[in-house]
Formats: sequence, structure tokens, C-alpha cells
Amino acid sequence: MPLGFIIFFIVMGIVAIAVFAYTFMMMFGTKTRSKMLARQMKSLRGMTDISKEDMESMMENLSEVSIKSRKKILEENEDDLKDIADANARINKDAVRETSKAIKDGFTSSSTYCKYCGSAIDSDSIYCNKCGKKLN
Ligand SMILES: [Zn+2]
Repeated sequence: MPLGFIIFFIVMGIVAIAVFAYTFMMMFGTKTRSKMLARQMKSLRGMTDISKEDMESMMENLSEVSIKSRKKILEENEDDLKDIADANARINKDAVRETSKAIKDGFTSSSTYCKYCGSAIDSDSIYCNKCGKKLN
């Protein structure tokens, strides 16, 4: 069979299906169609209502379970968590202390740095005590 015939039959088939579908749709009047649509909407709404309720109870159960399991984990590892919290607090305290010390030093320090070797020296010294070069 030549290719032209095959294509022709496929196109004719599609047209026939389209015509059949159109006629089928036209068989129902506007009233029947709106009734069908209303019924579909109703059943759809019923389905969504059910699934909404199911979802809500499911979510409630899930959150309850997750809260319970989280509580259990926290209770089981209370000591470790306390240790971690203590360590964190210590680290923070140290960091705050060091930062405030650095700030205080920055404001009050009379030391400066040698422009030749970079070592810390007193700002009023004439010679660097590290490399011995004359300052200023
Ligand atoms: Zn120096």
C-alpha cells in the first residue's frame, strides 16, 4: 500500500473520530450537560472534602508523632545536649571576652608596629627592639 493511502486513512480516521465526538456532545442538550457538570462538581467536591479531612487528621497525627519523637530524642540525650549547650556557652563567653579584650587593647594600647620588620613595639620608642632600625 502506498504511503499516501496510509496517511489518507489516518487523517480520515481522525476526522471521523472528531465528527463522532462532536455529534455525541451535541446529543446532550444544554440542560443535560449542565446537570452532568453539576453532578461531576458535586462528586468532585465530595472527594476533596474527604481528602481534606483525611489530610487534616493525617497531618495532626504526623505532627503529634514528630513532636513525641523529638521530645523522646531530647529526653534520651538530655545530658549530651546539656554538655553541648555548656560548651557553646563557654565558647561564646570566651569569644566575647577575647573580643572585648581586643577592643580594649586597641583603644588603650600604646604599642605600634615597626614599619621595617612588623614586630610590636612601644609607640614612644626610637629604635625597634627587634631589628634595631631607627623609627621615624
Ligand atoms: Zn623592626
